[in-house]
Amino acid sequence: MTYGGDQTFPEIREAVRKLCARFPGQYWRALDREREYPTEFVTALTEAGFLSVLIPEEYGGSGLGLSAGAAVLEEIHRSGGNGGACHAQMYTMGTVLAHGSPAQKAAYLPKVASGELRLQAFGVTEPDAGTDTTRITTFARRDGDHYVVSGQKLWISRAEHSDLMVLLCRTTARDASAKPSDGMSVLLVDMREAVGNGLTIRPVRTMINHATTELFFEDLKVPVANLIGEEGKGFRYILSGMNAERILIASECIGDAKFFIDRASHYAKERAVFGRPIGENQGVQFPIARAYVQMTAAELMVQRACDLFEAGLPCGTEANMAKLTASEASWYAADMCLQTHGGFGFAEDYDIERKFRETRLYQVAPISTNLILSHVATHVLDLPKSF
Ligand SMILES: Cc1cc2nc3c(=O)[nH]c(=O)nc-3n(C[C@H](O)[C@H](O)[C@H](O)COP(=O)(O)OP(=O)(O)OC[C@H]3O[C@@H](n4cnc5c(N)ncnc54)[C@H](O)[C@@H]3O)c2cc1C
Repeated sequence: MTYGGDQTFPEIREAVRKLCARFPGQYWRALDREREYPTEFVTALTEAGFLSVLIPEEYGGSGLGLSAGAAVLEEIHRSGGNGGACHAQMYTMGTVLAHGSPAQKAAYLPKVASGELRLQAFGVTEPDAGTDTTRITTFARRDGDHYVVSGQKLWISRAEHSDLMVLLCRTTARDASAKPSDGMSVLLVDMREAVGNGLTIRPVRTMINHATTELFFEDLKVPVANLIGEEGKGFRYILSGMNAERILIASECIGDAKFFIDRASHYAKERAVFGRPIGENQGVQFPIARAYVQMTAAELMVQRACDLFEAGLPCGTEANMAKLTASEASWYAADMCLQTHGGFGFAEDYDIERKFRETRLYQVAPISTNLILSHVATHVLDLPKSF
């Protein structure tokens, strides 16, 4: 089926679809069962240049806008795959691009663009600091030419499959900072040197195949040359990259919703119960139609957020609203699709139960729905703050 938003980047979409056809449901199911990383898929995407679409041409990327990246990720998800294994390779470099020194950009970005370096780990969350990032306690103490990092991070995805990690840590304790959001800094950690020399990675098994991990830092030495931007201003740098992340993840949700709507529509026409296709019953039709309406509305919100982002205009609220509407549309579509399939929705071979589990994540990460509602309530509607 063709949807309204499919008109953008038709050539990119077609190429991504072709690539994804080489990685069918069987491929993802086998990996899901063993919680293994989709190495072949990520290599194919990298080689085709789809993960470097946001890197400017001067650094070896294709320099396309965010909406091109959104089209790539949407098509991956619509095909039944999962971009979570590598989506961060697209946008994590944004911190280096926006706030890194000319030397850092020259050293890293061309290699990230070619795929020689994977920069797809993003270390912010800690066991006692999720939603409230200012509570992080992982600390980088300056010692000559190095920082010495101690602490713990949780839910750091792809850490085992990344050469570099953007790490947010405290360089001044929260209590000693003028504002809670001051005193945090961003370090670029070379994982190849760090693991075994102060950094230990422990995989965390979850309900989805997401290669997420727990990180333990014990006096890890990171060169001061790997500080991104100014010391103490890291929170602002991380925030500035979050709009891209939210919009791109919203586009994955749109892809998921289209996957579920396609599958449900097809099945409802084929499956006969009481001697007629179940899709003839309005009790089956209406949830599919509702899913389509919700997905289309969310898709417009994602496009609006992309447009603002690409025009360099403020888009924090729109990025948040795109992520909220898209993640709710994909979750509604997932539930609808499972229901439409009856018992078969639970069978692994249909890929619906896997996608159902996978799309649920996006109401919690990278930011939970409640926090988006809180942003809209207080920043847009000027309602009193609750925290
Ligand atoms: C599979 C997976 C992968 C992830 N990958 C990464 C990663 O690569 N890097 C990284 O840094 N992090 C990652 N995360 C972490 C993710 O960003 C956090 O889980 C998320 O920000 C929520 O934080 P929390 O889990 O600590 O929830 P908490 O902050 O403990 O919140 C728990 C619940 O309470 C609600 N809540 C809290 N405060 C309020 C309030 N004031 N009002 C209303 N509701 C409230 C929240 O909305 C949430 O539903 C990942 C998480 C998962 C599950």
